[in-house]
Amino acid sequence: MSSPDANTPATASAKPSNFLRQIIEHDLAEGTYTARRWGGSPGDAAHHAAGASDPAKIRTRFPPEPNGYLHIGHAKSICLNFGLARDYGGVCHLRFDDTNPEKEDQEYVNAIIDTVHWLGFDWKASFNGVSSTCLYQASDYFDFMYRAAEYLIQAGHAYVDEQSAEAMRINRGDFGAPGVDSPFRSRTPAENLARFREMRDGRHEDGAMVLRAKIDMASPNINLRDPAIYRIRRATHHNTGDKWCIYPMYTFAHPIEDALENITHSLCTLEFEDQRPFYDWLLDRLCEGGLLQAPHPHQYEFARLNLTYVVTSKRKLAALVYDHKVNGWDDPRMPTIVGLRRRGYTPEAIQLFAERIGVTKSDSWIDYSTLEGCLRETLDVSAPRAMAVLDPVKLVLTNWDAVMGAGALDECSAPVHPHLPALGRRSFKIGKEVWIDRSDFEETPPKGFFRLFPGNKVRLKYGHVIECTGCVKDAAGKVLEVHATLVPDTKSGTPGSDTVKVKGVITWVAVADGIPAEVRLYDRLFLDAQPDAGGKEFLASLNPNSLKVIQAVVEPSLASAKADDKFQFERHGYFVADRVDHTGGKPVFNLAVGLKDSWGK
Ligand code: ATP
Ligand code: MG
Repeated sequence: MSSPDANTPATASAKPSNFLRQIIEHDLAEGTYTARRWGGSPGDAAHHAAGASDPAKIRTRFPPEPNGYLHIGHAKSICLNFGLARDYGGVCHLRFDDTNPEKEDQEYVNAIIDTVHWLGFDWKASFNGVSSTCLYQASDYFDFMYRAAEYLIQAGHAYVDEQSAEAMRINRGDFGAPGVDSPFRSRTPAENLARFREMRDGRHEDGAMVLRAKIDMASPNINLRDPAIYRIRRATHHNTGDKWCIYPMYTFAHPIEDALENITHSLCTLEFEDQRPFYDWLLDRLCEGGLLQAPHPHQYEFARLNLTYVVTSKRKLAALVYDHKVNGWDDPRMPTIVGLRRRGYTPEAIQLFAERIGVTKSDSWIDYSTLEGCLRETLDVSAPRAMAVLDPVKLVLTNWDAVMGAGALDECSAPVHPHLPALGRRSFKIGKEVWIDRSDFEETPPKGFFRLFPGNKVRLKYGHVIECTGCVKDAAGKVLEVHATLVPDTKSGTPGSDTVKVKGVITWVAVADGIPAEVRLYDRLFLDAQPDAGGKEFLASLNPNSLKVIQAVVEPSLASAKADDKFQFERHGYFVADRVDHTGGKPVFNLAVGLKDSWGK
């Protein structure tokens, strides 16, 4: 993002302060990064030295591993990284962290690109009329990473260790006991270099040896006890093919990726806090060797998003998909961004959510209702209204023919949105027979019931006042038809229509012009608020009733609904025309969120 006000969510006003904003503001005030140069693309110290001073005030990055679909937790990271870059005159890079050869897939790469775009962000940098695209892949840096490893070896900061994995684990020690030096630790740089090149040249088996940083086997931080930085792995990489049979470890690769890209603030989740000393150690060594530009990036940790009733591990989401617990990655019950989108979520709602939950340094759980509240708020101000009858039973107006004329239909209308007159009005008919919701009639009303029961008057919303006279039932006692009479001269919007006072107003759709539609009512996917906390088996708390498919009748204005269009079905909630299955000929609507929060109850 280059322009400071692009993509500002309509509903978010002043940005709440957070500790990351304070750090960035401090760095900008101190000029921490003003000496940095930018070579126009990622590169080593020499590459950047040849460029002009970096026009981006800060650089952040979103670095997904392309091994699954992005979820709401990633959305927090996306909104944070792209949002900070936007707000502080910087750029956020989209970087595919594809250093692990086994798991990447082009399907995921494409889906991630689509998702970040859809959320309202892009990775174009535009300064002084020059545009560039900051979309990178970490595997393009393998050559540099290899060079950095050779440098560390030559400077005496790394060695090839041939201990077995088991011996290495035991000799690492634990919190109570310092580690024990490997017998290979005192090899000379020349010996190590020769061995490392043999590793690269495929002269050793997978797992036979690793390259380790030489730091401190007695460090209280176990991550500094000579961490492995390169391993032998014969695997074909989607980008580099069979060029390499050694691959860098994530903890080695990530700081280098950040530094090559001139990242200033490298934001990650709290579990990486213990890795920060190694991040700094590595970049300090490579800057001191003149390989990387100084000052190098800094890592800051924030609390990951934990959302109640949701799991956000890609592995667990994949299990739901592959075990057919849901209908694919974009199932509207999934917390994936594609799932939320199909459920009716908008980029505005997700941005608002990310803003509202903020960033902190301590882990906590966010209530699912917070996410739903953001959707409700954004849809309330924008979604066209419509009437829908979800559980239809026929209402017959027995005096219609006498009052209005046999077979007559009367025209009714309503605003598309109560507060947006510019959206115009919608019209529909009323006739002798209309559909109403089964729950709006009670033969024997419970206390406080103001809708249809024999002898009671209600208004058909935007239509007339009617008086209930009874019902027709089948042998089992199921109501087949509700009967009522029209009260003349009470049509909404006509003079004197409100002289007859009623306590209840019900929604309805005429039999004459109602459209049948499939409606998918979604509920939470898990019954347990923390389905996978403490290593719990999350599949055990799957909600067996998370999807209910019903046949509804909707008002005729919905005939022109297009996939992804969102509506408020009056009195019911917010619904979206399903982006996969909805067609004009076969309308399908998904429940996005109810009108009121029902989660806390
Ligand atoms: P998963 O455990 O689901 O595979 P991950 O962290 O391994 O997630 P990556 O693709 O490596 O997934 O993540 C890309 C970025 O998204 C990282 O910077 C990571 O910190 C961030 N991220 C992932 N999950 C969350 C979350 N729940 N809350 C906030 N940020 C997250
Ligand atoms: Mg990961």
